[in-house]
Amino acid sequence: MSELNTNLERLAGHLKQFEGQVLPHRIGGEDVTSSKVMQSRSPVDDSVICDVAEGSASDIDAAAQAAHAAFPAWRDMPGKQRKKILHAVADAIVARADEIALVESWDTGQAIRFMSKAALRGAENFRFFADQAEGARDGHTLPTPDHMNITTRTPIGPVGVITPWNTPFMLSTWKIAPALAAGCTVVHKPAEWSPLTARLLVEIAEGAGLPKGVWNMVNGLGEEAGKTLTEHPMIKAVAFVGESSTGSAIMRQGSETLKRVHFELGGKNPVVVFDDANFDRALDAAVFMIYSLNGERCTSSSRVLIQEGIYDRFVAALEARVNKLKVGHPLDPATEIGPLIHPRHLSKVTSYLDIAEKDGARIAVRGEGHGEDGYFVNPTLYADATPNMRIAQEEIFGPVLTAMKFSDEAEALEIANSVAYGLAGYVWTNDVTRALRFSDGLDAGMIWVNSENVRHLPTPFGGTKASGIGRDGGDWSFDFYMETKNIAIATGEHKISKLGV
Ligand code: NAD
Repeated sequence: MSELNTNLERLAGHLKQFEGQVLPHRIGGEDVTSSKVMQSRSPVDDSVICDVAEGSASDIDAAAQAAHAAFPAWRDMPGKQRKKILHAVADAIVARADEIALVESWDTGQAIRFMSKAALRGAENFRFFADQAEGARDGHTLPTPDHMNITTRTPIGPVGVITPWNTPFMLSTWKIAPALAAGCTVVHKPAEWSPLTARLLVEIAEGAGLPKGVWNMVNGLGEEAGKTLTEHPMIKAVAFVGESSTGSAIMRQGSETLKRVHFELGGKNPVVVFDDANFDRALDAAVFMIYSLNGERCTSSSRVLIQEGIYDRFVAALEARVNKLKVGHPLDPATEIGPLIHPRHLSKVTSYLDIAEKDGARIAVRGEGHGEDGYFVNPTLYADATPNMRIAQEEIFGPVLTAMKFSDEAEALEIANSVAYGLAGYVWTNDVTRALRFSDGLDAGMIWVNSENVRHLPTPFGGTKASGIGRDGGDWSFDFYMETKNIAIATGEHKISKLGV
């Protein structure tokens, strides 16, 4: 039996739990359904996986009430105990990693070769923040001659977490693990196009000992469930991952209740390859960072800026590699590109073929539909683009790379910074002073030099400009999920101005 068939057989076993039922919300440790339902479909063949409860404003209200009620006990639980529970969640994720990967591949179209790692990354996120839980309240001592200032942190309260459909399991753990480690309770609203693993995640967490109501999950549409969550007075902060325009809407919606917001938004990230770079490694990284995960990845290297001395050779090498990418069933371990998440997204991605042609780019590899069923697409490579073209400016969020030529460092920097986004940047050069100078000038929250996106959890993750507000990772996550308090204690009898004497 082929590996694909073995995976399909294993998937069938895991899908049984979703069959013939409406996927419920989880509120206060109980399953809750709604009067309205939506459907989850597989991008592989457009089949309905299951019906999903479509959360209303009252479901969100019930979840916010549950998170509010559970907050004092969770906040006051010693960090050591929270740490133990979060490690148990990580263990339980590892135990079900295979199931999570198969279900997420089927629900999102992401190739299994990447999803199996994403599930384990979810466990690592829990483990990392579990270890931080005991020190989450730690602060500074800031002495002056008259006072000892002591800072301390307390969890902000119940928080809303809103996640997108790309690698939904890993991204949910990335936001929720630090919130729980900080002592916050959570209402999670997963993306409507990929709801399955959010359900597995909350189930796993409760099974691992998380008290009822600490983590609530409500499915539904952004315009109703998502909006209500961002407006709810009991929700003190909203951590959001998604499109920049949705971030703007959330800011407006949350303004009435003065929500603290943390946004991880879109990107149009440049890979800048100088003449002196290690050609083969730069090629590997550029291809990997845009064509893995179907290009549905915020840190994807969607623009490649190549110095003129190696431009033709680099584009030819890209062309050869892109033509050989394996598009196929996401559960086949050989597949490199699976189907895109939704027909609407597929038509958005392919609509850029006409746009690119009209704008005068060269279509080096033309990625049109692939096969009859599902939402498959072949990868695309645009070449000889100029910085003002839409394919060089807009986030396409698919397996689509735009190649551009530059002559010198100044021009490369100007092109790299000429977009609305500023999430990540990748620089390839063997000149260390240029690498530092260029990184300094690059408008992006995260820069990798001679590397692809290799995450180290204690480092800050986030973007500038339209790519986001705030940073995740390490202690930066706690800055968002916690309030900092300063306590100033007089250490002597300093002079106090006397009025009315
Ligand atoms: P999206 O903004 O359409 O949806 C994200 C979530 O927001 C969904 O759960 C949706 O239901 C909800 N939502 C929609 N409207 C809302 C509203 N008015 N109020 C509250 N919630 C609302 O994004 P998407 O298409 O699901 O995801 C793709 C986007 O996410 C891309 O732009 C990508 O770059 C971005 N992304 C960014 C990062 C990062 O770390 N910077 C990571 C992953 C994805």
